Amino acid sequence: MALELAAVYRDLHAHPELSFQEHRTAGIVADHLGSLGYAVTTGIGITGVVGVLANGDGPTVLLRADMDALPVLEETGLDYASTARGVDADGNDVPLMHACGHDVHVTCLLGAAEALADASGEWAGTLVVLFQPAEEWGGGAERMVEDGLYDRIPKPDVVLGQHVAPFPAGFAGLHAGVAMAAADSIDITLHGSGGHGSRPETTVDPVYLAANVVARLQGIVAREIAPADSAVVTVGQLHAGTKNNIIPPSAKLGLSVRTLDDAVRDAVIAGIERITRAEATASDAPKEPEFDYVERFPLTVNEPAATARTFAALQAALGEGRVIDPGSVSGSEDVGVLATAAGAPLVYWFLGGFDPTLFPDLLRTGRMPEDVPSNHSPHFAPMIEPTLTSGVRALVAAAREWLA
Ligand code: ZN
Ligand code: ZN
Repeated sequence: MALELAAVYRDLHAHPELSFQEHRTAGIVADHLGSLGYAVTTGIGITGVVGVLANGDGPTVLLRADMDALPVLEETGLDYASTARGVDADGNDVPLMHACGHDVHVTCLLGAAEALADASGEWAGTLVVLFQPAEEWGGGAERMVEDGLYDRIPKPDVVLGQHVAPFPAGFAGLHAGVAMAAADSIDITLHGSGGHGSRPETTVDPVYLAANVVARLQGIVAREIAPADSAVVTVGQLHAGTKNNIIPPSAKLGLSVRTLDDAVRDAVIAGIERITRAEATASDAPKEPEFDYVERFPLTVNEPAATARTFAALQAALGEGRVIDPGSVSGSEDVGVLATAAGAPLVYWFLGGFDPTLFPDLLRTGRMPEDVPSNHSPHFAPMIEPTLTSGVRALVAAAREWLA
C-alpha cells in the first residue's frame, strides 16, 4: 500500500518524542520498512532503526534521517500541532515539539524507501535506510556506532542525508567542504573552599575564581585565534552559592564552543583547559578543576567530489537553479559520525521547507529574510507540500546517482 506522506507527517508531528525516547516513531518506521520488504533491525543505539534492501551487486548507499523532537511548547496554531508532554533526562516534565523538522526527515525517508523498493528493477546494489535517535542531544549517531552498527549492517560507500531549513520549498542547499560547525558543550566545576563571607582569608573563593575564568576565556578568540579563522566561546551558565554571607565551596560554568576547523577547535579547547587550570592555581584552589564534555558535535564536512556528483543529481531532480550553495552554517549535526565510522564520504544538504513567496530577494540578492521562523522556534512550521515531495525526490535522486 502506498504511503500517504502528508498523513504520516501530520501523525508524526502531533506525536513528538525526546532524544532516545523515540519508541513510537521507531515502531512506525519498523512496520513500514517491514511491509516494504526491507530487512529491519531495531534497537541499535536504544531506538535506532535500520532497513536494508539487498538488490544485487553494486555499491552500498546509506540514507539517514533523525527522529527526535525538542522540549519546546508549540505555538504554530496548526490543526495538527503537538500538545504532547514528556519527561526529559533530568526528570523534568516538558512540552514537546518537532521544532527542528525531524518529522519531515522521517516522512521523506519512508517515502524514498518505498519509491526505491518499487523501482528495484531499475537499480542494483544495497540500500540502507537509517533512522537515528538523539541528534539534538548529539549522541545518537555515536551511540549507534558504539552499538555495533557496522557489524550488523553493510558498511556504506557513501552516506547521504538532508535537513529541512528556512528557505524556499522545492529548493535544496548544498555546500562542499565544511558545511556545518563543530559544537562542544563543556561543563566546568571549579573547586574552592567555603566559609563565612566575613572571613575570606580562611577560604578559597570559587566565585572570584569563576569570574576571572569567564573574563580570561574571552581572550582565546580575541588573542589566540588568527583573524582569518573563527570561533565562538560562550559561557551560558555560571552557578555558585546560596546566600550573600556564605563563600561557597565550588562554582560551575557551562560553555558552548563553535568552530569551523579541527585545528582551531583543538586550540580553543586546549586554551579553555589551560586558562581554567592556571586560574585555579592562581587562586590556590585545593583541587584541580573538572571538565565534563557533555555534547560533542564534529564538523560536518561534505566530501568535495561526492558533493559535486550529488549536486548535479539534485539539480536534475529539483530543476535548474533550484540547488543553491548556502556556504558554511554555524549550526551543528552528528551525521558525520556515521560517515567517519564507515570511512565513507558524506553528502548532507538542506531541504527548503517554506512558502517561496516569503523569499522574494533570495535569488536576486542571496539574502535570507529574518522573519521566517528558524529551526527550534515555537513557530517553526514547514509547509507540507511541496516540501515532502521534494524531499523524497531529492533522496531518491541522490541514492540513484550512487546505486548501479
Ligand atoms: Zn535541531
Ligand atoms: Zn535538526
